[in-house]
Amino acid sequence: MQDIIHLLPDSVANQIAAGEVIQRPASAVKELLENSIDAGAKKITLVIKEAGKTLIQVIDDGIGMSETDARMSFERHATSKLKSADDLFNINTKGFRGEALASIAAVAQVELKTKREQDTLGTKIEIWGSQLKGQDLIATETGTTFSIKNLFFNIPARRNFLKSNQVETQHILEEFYRIALAHPDVSFVLINNDAEMFRLEKGNLKQRVMGLFGNSYQEKLVPVNEETSIANITGFIVKPEFAKKTRGEQYFFVNNRFIKSNYLHHAVQSGFESLIARENVAGYFLFITLNPATIDVNIHPTKTEIKFSDEKAIYSILRSSIKMALGKHNITPSLDFDVETSLNIPLPDYSKIPEPPKIRVNPQYNPFKVETEKAYAPQKSMFDLRQFNNISNWETLYESENKEEKEKEDKIANPERRYFQLFQKYIITKTKNQLLMIDQQLAHERILFERFLNQLALNSGTSQQMMFPVTVDFPAKISEIVSEILPDLSALGFGIENFGQNTWAFSGLPPGLSESKVQELLEEMVREFQDSRQQVKFSKQNSLAQSMAKNMSIKGGKNLSDDEMGNLVNDLFACETPFYTPTGKPVIVNFDAETIDKLFKK
Ligand code: ADP
Ligand code: MG
Repeated sequence: MQDIIHLLPDSVANQIAAGEVIQRPASAVKELLENSIDAGAKKITLVIKEAGKTLIQVIDDGIGMSETDARMSFERHATSKLKSADDLFNINTKGFRGEALASIAAVAQVELKTKREQDTLGTKIEIWGSQLKGQDLIATETGTTFSIKNLFFNIPARRNFLKSNQVETQHILEEFYRIALAHPDVSFVLINNDAEMFRLEKGNLKQRVMGLFGNSYQEKLVPVNEETSIANITGFIVKPEFAKKTRGEQYFFVNNRFIKSNYLHHAVQSGFESLIARENVAGYFLFITLNPATIDVNIHPTKTEIKFSDEKAIYSILRSSIKMALGKHNITPSLDFDVETSLNIPLPDYSKIPEPPKIRVNPQYNPFKVETEKAYAPQKSMFDLRQFNNISNWETLYESENKEEKEKEDKIANPERRYFQLFQKYIITKTKNQLLMIDQQLAHERILFERFLNQLALNSGTSQQMMFPVTVDFPAKISEIVSEILPDLSALGFGIENFGQNTWAFSGLPPGLSESKVQELLEEMVREFQDSRQQVKFSKQNSLAQSMAKNMSIKGGKNLSDDEMGNLVNDLFACETPFYTPTGKPVIVNFDAETIDKLFKK
């Protein structure tokens, strides 16, 4: 019997492999742009015609190639970037598989012109469908120009499979954005059908974002900066009010390589908490830098997913860095992002896997001591100061770094009233640069919300025991839900027991809640709980904490003493998200000198 196994000719093998690497014009664009970056280019021009179907050309001013390397570059597994398997764990270049050029040359008509600085003449090579068409010495600039004509000319099925020019151009643009964002120090030009679409000068990331997505981003970006022992996070998030309904600018780069990650997206989204509507998507341009040994280098050529060995830690670092950034931004919106703020917040210890914030409740503290005492009794702050807001004087956030100067300021300023109550509902105070107006009710709502959320998470609510239990009859429907959320109610400090049918007995209440209000509060909570259950992203704990905070907060119309106001403000700034209520209403409105000047038409 005759043997039937034979080796595929290289051209066929290359064509098959090309299918994996080069799926559409955009994949070729990505490979060429990455090669130019790897070659140290400082200026890269991308020219496309008809969505890259007839022409993709990349011109760079990188190191170029010798005559031999130019030929070698088209061989499969020919790479200058990887010498042994060990190198796989420390890859600093974009490419390393040595497959792209071989693949592209298998399915298109390509022309390469290249020259190194030290050579007088360069090399020109033409290859059509893996067939060498010609090789010449030519006069050319230092750098490399790679032209791909008629992609998939020899695979009609593939060519027919391509989408409309509009769709394919969109794919190309997406690749272009990713690379341009990761390399703001490289200038880029994009020419589409003979028209210049982008001319991006080298600059910083913010300028690059503006160059790509419009100058309006000048106002939209909030800087993110977090350094930990596991990972550093830098970049920008888009202010919550500009979040879009659809996915738009969501860019993660890990060690400067674009990645997609729903998991990390979720971390960012949750960092925004309730600052953006549920149906909206946060925008971001975030760069995560970490030890390459702690990530799984993706070996699939086109995949943009990645695996972290310490996924949970990255999640929580990312989430807190977003919260931090938002916190800073809201109080100092007029600061230029590029100016260093005087923040000096001690970093959490990330050498261990971060845990959720520790309990922040002082169980002794009773803000309400029902009716007999003032609403917000002057006591030490009720929260243990938490990891990120570990600042006893929140004002230092905005003030001079210089301690002596600060003391001097204090001396001159003292004695002075720090807080004024306006219309019995707003607290007016100032920092060095800002006038702050705080809504007392909304502030208290935020404080209580975070406290209750914690109690729910840690099952740590305290209960004020009652001398005599009181019984309450709920309507049947409400009673049903009360039994359903019984464990949560007890986490919130309700000592509650069923006394048959719809009758419930209370033997303990959350501190501050008066007996006379229990029934009303619970019925309200259950109703809101039911309503929010209809929503897509329903969270039981959120809903309960939210409605309880709303119901128990001090209201407008309540006179507050200086001490009460001081405590309220301090507690507010010890919150994770002081600037908005859980439902997204602003708690603090601030004016800087410039804004006030404008009011006076100065
Ligand atoms: P890889 O990038 O994985 O090494 P490629 O097939 O993309 O594989 O490229 C093969 C080799 O060709 C590269 O390793 C590099 O040495 C060389 N090369 C490709 N493009 C350029 C360029 N624009 N400038 C200089 N050298 C290049
Ligand atoms: Mg490459």
